[in-house]
Amino acid sequence: MLNCDDNIVIALFTRNDMLKDIRKLLIQPGKHMDLSKVDPDDTFGKKRDELDSKLPKLKSSMSELQYKLYIENERALLIVLQGMDTSGKDGVIRHVIRAFNPVSCRVESFKVPTSEELAHDFLWRIHKTIPRKGFVVVFNRSHYEDVVEVRVQKLVPDSTCLERFDQIKQFEKMLSENNVKILKFYLHISKEEQKKRLLDRLSNPEKRWKVNEDDYEKRKKWDKYMSAYTDAINNCSTKQAPWYVIPANKKWFRNWVISEIITNAMTEMKIKYPQLSSQFNNIKI
Ligand code: AMP
Ligand code: MG
Repeated sequence: MLNCDDNIVIALFTRNDMLKDIRKLLIQPGKHMDLSKVDPDDTFGKKRDELDSKLPKLKSSMSELQYKLYIENERALLIVLQGMDTSGKDGVIRHVIRAFNPVSCRVESFKVPTSEELAHDFLWRIHKTIPRKGFVVVFNRSHYEDVVEVRVQKLVPDSTCLERFDQIKQFEKMLSENNVKILKFYLHISKEEQKKRLLDRLSNPEKRWKVNEDDYEKRKKWDKYMSAYTDAINNCSTKQAPWYVIPANKKWFRNWVISEIITNAMTEMKIKYPQLSSQFNNIKI
């Protein structure tokens, strides 16, 4: 029979194994990743019940850490969500990001640029929405559209996109040096899974509003998107602003692993409550 100490050791082992698995989703700067070789069905061998049961505790940790970030008022958190249509960006916001209190959390969605936005450099509309100290901002699509979407649709020359990789790295480095912690998630689904989800949208009156003719046109260029994403992720995963490729065919795995990564990253930030000023020592009420 196992005693209590044995159980603690086993729990630590399992947690370390899990952290090792999660680290594999991080695209190491300078290493080459090929999206076509990443299994979108991966769940680290975990079952749905096990991971679903961990979610409430993780979300409550996220909420506590966000509160401390707000009170500390020194640093900010930027979470970038990218992925093909139906990959689950909205789902992550609904199921994971909702753990954050809206008092200091905002979601920014980036659509086809307006004429005003196109009259500026591509980072202009992005920079305006970066979180202020104490805040969390979640990007539902981002400046990575400007090196993926525009590349696949040939809206700008390829050489411009390649220059943008460097501009993005410089921009994210500057943000990180100005106390913005950056986490970037690519939600990786298979073409087959997208077909299922698009069909589901068509047949479900609550989801039909999301259907867009464009989605079907883009689907025809699936391989081009995969190679543009592979290129963008490989070129722009840095120590300060790492990319995680999240196997996202299983929504419950996607939600759990993103919650884990956010919780771990915020814990590593060692956010502290500010020191009470000594003037409070003599207050009598
Ligand atoms: P959705 O996120 O489904 O509402 O769709 C937004 C659409 O805007 C997607 O088709 C994106 O590819 C497109 N989009 C976002 N940013 C850009 C951009 N910088 N250039 C071109 N298209 C973009
Ligand atoms: Mg869409």
